[in-house]
Amino acid sequence: MQLYNNLSAKERAALIEQAGKDRLTISFYAYAKIGNPKIFRNDLFLAWNELDVLGRIYVAHEGINAQLSLPADQFEAFKAHLDSISFLENVRLNIAVEHDNFAFLKLKIKVRDKIVADGLNDDTFDVTDIGVHVDAERFNELIEDENTVLVDMRNHYESEIGHFKNAVTPDVDTFRESLDIIEEDLKDHKEDKNLVMYCTGGIRCEKASAYYKHKGFKNVFQLEGGIINYVRQIKEKGLENKFIGKNFVFDERRSERISDDVIAHCHQCGNPADLHTNCANDACHLLFIQCEECKKKMEACCSTTCMEVNRLPYEEQKEMRKGQGNSNDIFKKGRAGHLPFKQDLRNIFDSFETLKS
Ligand SMILES: [Zn+2]
Ligand SMILES: [Zn+2]
Repeated sequence: MQLYNNLSAKERAALIEQAGKDRLTISFYAYAKIGNPKIFRNDLFLAWNELDVLGRIYVAHEGINAQLSLPADQFEAFKAHLDSISFLENVRLNIAVEHDNFAFLKLKIKVRDKIVADGLNDDTFDVTDIGVHVDAERFNELIEDENTVLVDMRNHYESEIGHFKNAVTPDVDTFRESLDIIEEDLKDHKEDKNLVMYCTGGIRCEKASAYYKHKGFKNVFQLEGGIINYVRQIKEKGLENKFIGKNFVFDERRSERISDDVIAHCHQCGNPADLHTNCANDACHLLFIQCEECKKKMEACCSTTCMEVNRLPYEEQKEMRKGQGNSNDIFKKGRAGHLPFKQDLRNIFDSFETLKS
């Protein structure tokens, strides 16, 4: 019985080439209660390996998170297999618009503690008791309701370049932080307000909605499939777009323009800009917003210090980094005192108050 991938990436690429078939790239997730993730994982591997599925899939006691590709002509069989699993029956599948036959070259199904590293180590609540899913049309109605508080569940570097009109955008670096801030700020409105949430692809809101229901919020809603699915529906159904700016995405593109508005500012000169730069200094890699002019002038660095380090020969830079640990520990994403136009910490309650006034 083969339970693990046994072809190299190179061998696999050759096979895909040879088969000459179009592959679909699909992603999906579901929170569920899985008693024995190891057994579930092995069952999936046996069934999907048979269908020539490739991808990166995480399985945990709390559910499944999958990104995969498969030959287009195996789609029906794959769908039938998903439908045979009670919590995956009719699960929403995101099918990528752009084809890439070589998106994945191995089938890796891993058992993890969690399907998303969300920092929420609280297993006292039921992750499957989620809020109400709303589509783009209903979402547009809900966010016009004066009884609604619309919350962006993403991190500040994501919402800074684009978000829904009137959304509260907590100034946080992690999902875990925003959960507490929002709960605190809305503690007197657990029963009378609609708590409407959104994130990039919907997965963060699944967990957040279950968490808030557990904390006593009565009217919890989330945008199904997140901003990505919203934009698709807006285009397909000709609905009004209420998202301004760019959607931050987690691939090499970094962001996707949704409306023409440029809502952010260059962190170095303050001019309108909404393009993220990863500081070119390998010891820094700060993620910050930089306009084209500053990018040229600063050689894609966040500070003159980084610029000087980045000009040194590579070996010398390596020597300097010794014992400094991981660059991500040196700076937090998008936060550094030396960036004059990076907004200060805002209290979510201030923005909530502004909304009401
Ligand atoms: Zn600038
Ligand atoms: Zn830097």
